[in-house]
Amino acid sequence: MLSEKLKELGVVGAGGAGFPTYVKAKSQVEFVLANGAECEPLIHKDVELMQSFPAQVVAGMHLMMKATGAQKGKFGIKEKNAAAAEAIRGQVQSNPIELVLLGDFYPSGDEYELVYSATGRLIPPGGIPLQVGSVVNNVETLYNVEAASEGLPVTEKFLSVVGAVREPKSFWAPVGTSFGELIEAAGGATVAEFAVFVSGILMGTLAPGLDEVVTKTTAGLIVLPRDHYLLTRKGRAEQDMNRIGKSACDQCSYCTEFCPRYLLGYEVMPHKVMRSLGFTLTGADNWNQWAQLCCSCGLCTLYACPEDLFPREACDQAKDDLRAAGIKFTQKKPPVVHPMKDARRVPLSMLRKRLKVEEYESEAPFRETRIEPAQVRIKLSQHAGKPARPVVARGDKVEKGACIGRVDAAELGANIHASIAGTVEAVTDSCIEIKR
Ligand code: SF4
Ligand code: SF4
Repeated sequence: MLSEKLKELGVVGAGGAGFPTYVKAKSQVEFVLANGAECEPLIHKDVELMQSFPAQVVAGMHLMMKATGAQKGKFGIKEKNAAAAEAIRGQVQSNPIELVLLGDFYPSGDEYELVYSATGRLIPPGGIPLQVGSVVNNVETLYNVEAASEGLPVTEKFLSVVGAVREPKSFWAPVGTSFGELIEAAGGATVAEFAVFVSGILMGTLAPGLDEVVTKTTAGLIVLPRDHYLLTRKGRAEQDMNRIGKSACDQCSYCTEFCPRYLLGYEVMPHKVMRSLGFTLTGADNWNQWAQLCCSCGLCTLYACPEDLFPREACDQAKDDLRAAGIKFTQKKPPVVHPMKDARRVPLSMLRKRLKVEEYESEAPFRETRIEPAQVRIKLSQHAGKPARPVVARGDKVEKGACIGRVDAAELGANIHASIAGTVEAVTDSCIEIKR
């Protein structure tokens, strides 16, 4: 069965939290949706993958449709990416698969947005696509599904290295390769002092250092000069964000009026979350419920707020604190799409301008770049669910593709595999190191 192969060979969502794909393959749905929207600024790896490997991606779609009993497969691709759309279209003639052409807006690849665009259905508040007869897979996940059907485990990641590098491009890299080696493969940084956003400016994280490694979910690296505006914003301490928000938020509510989830009809209101800061002594003692359906897209903080405040971060804190306190908010009313939704969509061109990254926008063409790290560090947890349990010990010799970490059959999680052939150098609580 496909789901068993996917579990054994470690296939997880390649575009987000790394949800194990075998769970999706076991469900029964009407629609399999392929997410090729790729709306994080500067990253272009999904477009390159669809252009260079359309047959594999479409084969993965067919496999998922067969496994789930889906009658329809739909690819969400931005209309502006005509070459990628053509490449996919060239593989799907006379098949029950169609393309859904999306505008160049952020965040058109958000799961709730994509399901609505492709099916006209709204996922119940706090729910998942399965509840409206859909599963969503990133296009690279579909590539990996096809590879798994041929018996190949996930050992490489397709990603873009962009921003302040000499040769922005997309390529395959062994899981566990250091970021430093990837930046070198892209010709090196163009500035002496830089920092690296991992998998996106809006929803990604800042790399703690160049020793950090590629996982099955790394979409790309965005290199920016250390003194860039975004790093000043990201670098603020949480208590400073709260203190500034408490004193400076004028409740204009732009953050809410631009919030994509609010515009889809979900009860998310970041301006009311910001009010929590003003109404409590410490600024964050009593969060209210208006953050719980937020998807952390970052638009309120990095685009909407005219005061450069931090409503997304306030929402993130609120969600964490309420979760820890066991408080769950359930929206009672069914979502109703806001009449101004279309008029308030945020074009990528405007977003890049607001983020001050226009100068770094460029193509990131796929190149057959050989990345041969002398050593890899493969994380035990690079997916949703339980971390893998090591099944190798220091000194063991492993071949590329050998299973080195497993999850039990009854557990949610994903096996991990050696991405290079070599000797196991170390096994720790968090990773397995292999040296050639
Ligand atoms: S947009 Fe900024 S200033 Fe306006 S309500 Fe939201 S956080 Fe406050
Ligand atoms: S991060 Fe802000 S804009 Fe995005 S969903 Fe959450 S509250 Fe809405």
